[in-house]
Amino acid sequence: MDYSHVRDVDPAVADALDGEVERQRDTLAMIASENHVSEAVLEAQGSALTNKYAEGYPGKRYYAGCEYADDVETLAVERAKELWGAEHVNVQPHSGTQANMGVYLAMLDPGDKILSLDLTHGGHLSHGHPANFTGKLYDVEQYEVDAETGHIDYDQLAEKAAAFEPDIIVSGYSAYPRAVEWETIQEVADDVDALHLADIAHITGLVAAGVHPSPVGVADFVTGSTHKTIRAGRGGIIMCDEKYASDIDSAVFPGAQGGPLMHNIAGKAVGFKEALQPEFEEYAQQVVDNAKALAETFEDHGLSVVSGGTDTHLVLVDLRDSHPDLTGGTAEEALESTGIVLNANTVPGETRSAFNPSGIRAGTPGLTTRGFGEDEIREVGELIVKVVDAPEDDDVLAEVSERVQELCDANPLYE
Ligand SMILES: *Cc1c(COP(=O)(O)O)cnc(C)c1O
Repeated sequence: MDYSHVRDVDPAVADALDGEVERQRDTLAMIASENHVSEAVLEAQGSALTNKYAEGYPGKRYYAGCEYADDVETLAVERAKELWGAEHVNVQPHSGTQANMGVYLAMLDPGDKILSLDLTHGGHLSHGHPANFTGKLYDVEQYEVDAETGHIDYDQLAEKAAAFEPDIIVSGYSAYPRAVEWETIQEVADDVDALHLADIAHITGLVAAGVHPSPVGVADFVTGSTHKTIRAGRGGIIMCDEKYASDIDSAVFPGAQGGPLMHNIAGKAVGFKEALQPEFEEYAQQVVDNAKALAETFEDHGLSVVSGGTDTHLVLVDLRDSHPDLTGGTAEEALESTGIVLNANTVPGETRSAFNPSGIRAGTPGLTTRGFGEDEIREVGELIVKVVDAPEDDDVLAEVSERVQELCDANPLYE
């Protein structure tokens, strides 16, 4: 990466930028919400479009000089429609949270009712957590996963929906390894006359590639992020039927945001083009195959995998059975010291705190981007198990670090 202009102006920031590239090269990025975008997406996001004000939408802007902004946004929208098959797409949300905000703002009044999955069971802050605007503005009730199976408890969801009479039901999750039954949730929503928002932030790429069922055409609204399993740079997206188009567009701008981040929208356009190539389907399938191999490796070595496996890009491990004295936080730290970067995560039925929970969450999108296949992922799984079994053994940590470095060198990034 060439940050020579930054270096001339600001060596301290240039050091951090170079340091981050090195960190990504020399570590295994297994945070399930992260990935590595192409250099083409990086260039687009670092482009002169960051200078441009383009409030409004293509062809209807509040500022002059928007012809290239229009080109880029139109391309992003058209490609998104092709990728997900949505009637209407808004690519302006700055993030996944902003995308959800757009839907709530378009459809709810303060005090209206949201029914969503509990955060410790895999939900997201923007689905009604008390610390988030959603928890402050709306009346929130939550459903859970089944304690035995780890799958969404669809019966409980239906019971809670009947009792609570929500205005909107939110599906789509942050730490849920299983395929979501969109139709089942839609039936619940129809029964209680609620809207249905399917937030596919984590699985946007898997849905685009057809390796996870799609809620587009099922749920009223589909929101997503553009930087997780789809490698289009940081941002959000909203999809809906034409009948909601103008409500959604005016909720995003001027409702929730000012000028769109046109440089990010350029990144989205480029990343979506990459995702329309046939190789992307292979990539997404490999992401899932790798996650399945990782889950198997963990189970073979005695770790307890929530729901017994995965249908997606992520694996959630509950450490309480196999390692009752080890917290997710301690495991995360020991792993990070070897170059394996993942996160401590709450697990269904959490008995510790959100800051130092009982599980770890591991995702395969980043490593798959670097070219890791199932054999390499199994080895990474074994390295993780070694650290989890002996998080304070310096010899083990040194041995794992050495192997992690070899795996990184064999699968280079941003050469
Ligand atoms: C990651 C995520 C989001 C988006 O988060 P941002 O950081 O705001 O982009 C939204 N919903 C779910 C379920 C997520 O996992």
